[in-house]
Amino acid sequence: MPTDSPPTAPVGPSAAPAPAPEFRTLDDVGIPGLRTVTDGDNGSLVYAVIPQIDGYDAINHRVRTIVASDKAELDAASDTHGDAADNIRGFVNVGWRPLGSSPDMVGLLLSSVVSTGASAAMREDSVWYDAAGDALLGWREFVVDAHRSDVVEAVTERLRRTIPFVDVARAAEILRSGDPAVGFSAEGGLILAFDEHDIAPGSAGAPTIEVPVPTSWLTSVGVRARQATLEPHPLVVPPPAPGEPSPEVNCRKERCVALTFDDGPSARTTPRLLDILSAADAHATFFVLGSQAQAYPRLLRRVASDGHEIGNHSWSHPDLTRISASSARKQIDRTSRVIEKITGHRPVLLRPPYGARNTKVDALARAGGYSEVLWSIDTRDWENHSPKKIIAAAKKARRGSIILMHDIHPDTVDAVPAVIAALRNKGFTLVTVSDLLGSPKPGKRYYGRY
Ligand code: ZN
Repeated sequence: MPTDSPPTAPVGPSAAPAPAPEFRTLDDVGIPGLRTVTDGDNGSLVYAVIPQIDGYDAINHRVRTIVASDKAELDAASDTHGDAADNIRGFVNVGWRPLGSSPDMVGLLLSSVVSTGASAAMREDSVWYDAAGDALLGWREFVVDAHRSDVVEAVTERLRRTIPFVDVARAAEILRSGDPAVGFSAEGGLILAFDEHDIAPGSAGAPTIEVPVPTSWLTSVGVRARQATLEPHPLVVPPPAPGEPSPEVNCRKERCVALTFDDGPSARTTPRLLDILSAADAHATFFVLGSQAQAYPRLLRRVASDGHEIGNHSWSHPDLTRISASSARKQIDRTSRVIEKITGHRPVLLRPPYGARNTKVDALARAGGYSEVLWSIDTRDWENHSPKKIIAAAKKARRGSIILMHDIHPDTVDAVPAVIAALRNKGFTLVTVSDLLGSPKPGKRYYGRY
């Protein structure tokens, strides 16, 4: 949409005869502990006004993750444009409104504009939290199994009717595995919102569809969410007791993938990678060399304190199948000792250099109490040095994939913001290898979780 047109006046071919459906949002709900936080980072041109609710870590974490992924997209775009775009400055702008509130449920709507200078995209994200079940909810939790395909059908049919050049297959894929914003209209219809440019040309704006849903189509939390929208009441159920760990990722339920980075830490490239991962609030696994860990202990400590997992990748990267068993054992032991000395934790994962293993290496892993971690997606970053190829390879990930990269190559680090954005776009949660596998067993070999 041209920036000079008033936001409320539909223009061009997207002007539909009927007004676009709208989320019902609330003016004043009196959510206890609700604070508005302003994140105005001049350096990265971010202006975000976001809600945080004291004690409700699950809500606060999800909200910050949304802002982090907006920021990562901005960073990825400025990296792609490089110096040529010095005069085009991008920005991220985030605002929010309450969608619903009840004694045991809260719904929040975040609206983001990510402008990369050359173009801008509007997107909406919903954060629904069921305090009774301590769970975050998306549209699939609101609709009973038996009627989800009816909703998908109704949405795609309405899209086809109202949005020119819409990609209904992509819309259906997002509904099946992504996380479109969800809420209710003032009439109680289910509203689903797609990001601008995601399923239709920018002229269509951010497509929003309303589907009338009989109560029999809604789950009990869906019914409660609709009620929280239409007849709001303040939240009463207290947050999970402080000190209790916030809900861990459960890869049996979530669509998890694991990013892994080998051969570091490197003083030249790893710090920038860590900045990117923490801005995106993404966790990864670093298979480090003992020699590098010893050379850069402070950097290794930061890898650990940033919440990443550290695995053993041998001391000096020999092919363990081609050296004696005792040399191979020394390669492994010495590395774990230095990692434990620096971080306080002994690694439980071993990735043999080159992925080269045989029964001798397997036996050493088993004896040392390590799970052997290989990979299912090889980005071949060490060979192609091409962010484009790395991103394309990473996009082939499916649920449970372990993705191999190397944090010693600047091109790999360049690719990471777009890799994260692409994987999240496909509905994946990025986790460490141990979180992906649940509890990896010593002596077992893993290529992913399938
Ligand atoms: Zn390696």
